[in-house]
Amino acid sequence: MMYKTIYLRRGKDESLRRFHPWVFSGAIERADEELEEGDIVQVFDSSSHFVALGHYQIGSIAVRILSFEERDIDESFWRERLQTALDVRRSIGVAGRQDNNTYRLVHGEGDNLPGLVIDMYGGTAVMQAHSVGMHLCRMQLAEALKAVVGESLTAIYYKSETTLPYKASLGQENGFIYGESQNDVAQENGLSFHIDWLRGQKTGFFVDQRDNRSLLEHYSMGRNVLNMFCYTGGFSVYALRGGARLVHSVDSSAKAVELVNANVELNFPGDERHKAFAEDAFKYLDQMETGSYDLIILDPPAFAKHKDALKNALRGYTKLNAKAFEKIRPGGILFTFSCSQAVNKDQFRLAVFTSAAMARRSVRILHQLHQPADHPINIYHPEGEYLKGLVLYVE
Ligand code: SAH
Repeated sequence: MMYKTIYLRRGKDESLRRFHPWVFSGAIERADEELEEGDIVQVFDSSSHFVALGHYQIGSIAVRILSFEERDIDESFWRERLQTALDVRRSIGVAGRQDNNTYRLVHGEGDNLPGLVIDMYGGTAVMQAHSVGMHLCRMQLAEALKAVVGESLTAIYYKSETTLPYKASLGQENGFIYGESQNDVAQENGLSFHIDWLRGQKTGFFVDQRDNRSLLEHYSMGRNVLNMFCYTGGFSVYALRGGARLVHSVDSSAKAVELVNANVELNFPGDERHKAFAEDAFKYLDQMETGSYDLIILDPPAFAKHKDALKNALRGYTKLNAKAFEKIRPGGILFTFSCSQAVNKDQFRLAVFTSAAMARRSVRILHQLHQPADHPINIYHPEGEYLKGLVLYVE
């Protein structure tokens, strides 16, 4: 197949030689033809040697690399990539299990498929494109996915309404591009969850907290748990299984409160240890009595979506954590997270350190948490690291 070609400025192929999967717009000298967003382009260095192939997009990241080898990007290419992704999930033990059919099959750059996310919920795959290029390839991807996953795949829900570049104005609507799901319940580590892929945030569930929820379960016995920013209540349900004395789930969205109640009901019908509240986090933390909880989870939405929001985000994390440190019972345990990609590990840790000092508590770091193995980080693309967490013992 012949692809349009872009030529890089002298020396601008360096990061690609180190397999970094992005070409920034400033690195491009010229193109041999007029480019359209979503085109597959071949990238040549300034001496006209092939370097890589990728999806062209309009913006500061101009090309997202699909391959460093000269080859056709066709269904068999997608099939290979998806097969490798599935093999990885099998080898880390999240796929092909009875008690767990919720996992991320494709994590963008982490799986050498920039701009694509696929989450599996039992027989339903939820596919999300973050680039016009992936959007244009969606039907080929769907065919490849069917071939790789096989009969157990009953439906593919395409959910890119909010993740595609707004300016591309593709008028894309969410919907099934293959089959239809009869069942909205999926298993995570033996627990059941309703997955609202139609209306829920992201692909319907926060798959990336699986391991951290498991760890929380082991700290829950006999404790009073506050799950702040609970959304569908993943942490709450694990805490109940772990033997918590009581679990309070809080989220500012009334819809989230409905979801968490439904998920608790699904696993522990009639369990009176659980209560959910629709309330703002800061307000709830201000108003709650000191010492009410000895296990607190803070898993807020990304405070910094972009680098320019960094300062405010750090202030937000500091303020939030300080409130928890003030109120947590002595001997309490705090699980605190940041999913902002723009905030790195050290910055997050510094924000939490500042909060601890403000509250004058003696604090030990017990665990440093991150995203699970089905959200792998491409070693050449450190930007792929986004989720970080700390488990703290508060004296
Ligand atoms: N911990 C969840 C994911 C959290 S997503 C899980 O494991 O699935 C972040 C949640 O924070 C969203 O549900 C959103 O409704 C909620 N939220 C956002 N701002 C909030 C605020 N100021 N107070 C309380 N909840 C808030």
